[in-house]
Amino acid sequence: MTNQPASTDPNGFARTPGGAISMDGNRLRDEIVAELAATIVAAGSPAVCLATVLVGDDGPSQRYVRNKHVQAAKAGMLSRNEVLPADAGQARVEQVVSALAADPNVHGILVQSPLPAGYDEEAVLRLIPADKDVDGLTSESMGRLVRGLPGLVGCTPLGVMRLLERHAVPTRGRRAVVIGRSTLVGLPLSLLLARKGVDATVTIAHSRTADLVDVCRDADILVGAVGQPGLITAAHVKPGAAVIDVGISRTEAGIVGDVDFEAVQAVAGYITPMPGGTGPMTIACLLENTLTAARLLGAFPD
Ligand code: NAP
Repeated sequence: MTNQPASTDPNGFARTPGGAISMDGNRLRDEIVAELAATIVAAGSPAVCLATVLVGDDGPSQRYVRNKHVQAAKAGMLSRNEVLPADAGQARVEQVVSALAADPNVHGILVQSPLPAGYDEEAVLRLIPADKDVDGLTSESMGRLVRGLPGLVGCTPLGVMRLLERHAVPTRGRRAVVIGRSTLVGLPLSLLLARKGVDATVTIAHSRTADLVDVCRDADILVGAVGQPGLITAAHVKPGAAVIDVGISRTEAGIVGDVDFEAVQAVAGYITPMPGGTGPMTIACLLENTLTAARLLGAFPD
């Protein structure tokens, strides 16, 4: 079986053969990109610019960056790609990022991760001003998230929140289990789900969690952010739960998520396809963040 939907429901959401609503990230990305484009036109088309920094010639990183620029153009944004050879050196990379940080025509800066071996990524991140930090990865951005201050939140966790919102998945008072506690995905997502106004009761699971099946079976919202193919089986899933697959593993069979899609779609109420779920949402939210950055910098009207 494929991850393709078998039917649609009255709200226009596709359903899997087992009846779960398919949380279609490609569709939602296209909607968000179109909304961003309309917002920019309505404001008189002020320049909104995303800059990426790509060091080295890693194939997947090149594809990710290219895709970001394609979608930025669709959103009516300018984009700039600084490409450096793998041996450019720490000083040169820092010089490029510092120049983007100081450039008033650049609103968002994304340094494609991982940098090649030998680079000090933390030192590079520290050069990105919080208001241009469209990846939401700097200490200042994380601190703002923890303190509930205006700022930029990581694109992947934000993308998960947008999927839940657009599919009207209830969160208030519901139990959410996030498997994974990285600063890139699991931790910020847990904070977002627990925020006032979202109001889920959140459990963070990780590699030392005992009885993962029991922990997960309580969840109304279950997120896999691990990178272990098929970790989440039907046994982990409460009937009707929303199951969101963030994990990406490249196998001989292609890209595989943390969720055993075929088994879980028969139990879940909502499920993300893989691919086509959280991945496209990460890019949509990068562009959403770029517009937010332009607002934070006073370059775009509120
Ligand atoms: P990471 O830093 O390696 O974190 C993985 C987390 O999973 C860790 O907290 C780890 O626990 C936990 N874990 C590992 N094995 C486990 C197990 N058997 N049971 C429960 N928890 C376990 O990875 P990441 O950067 O957060 O990324 C997570 C996944 O998301 C990766 O596959 C990555 O490729 C993918 N990703 C996808 C997108 C997207 O757009 N869809 C974006 C970013 C990342 P410990 O903390 O105890 O080690």
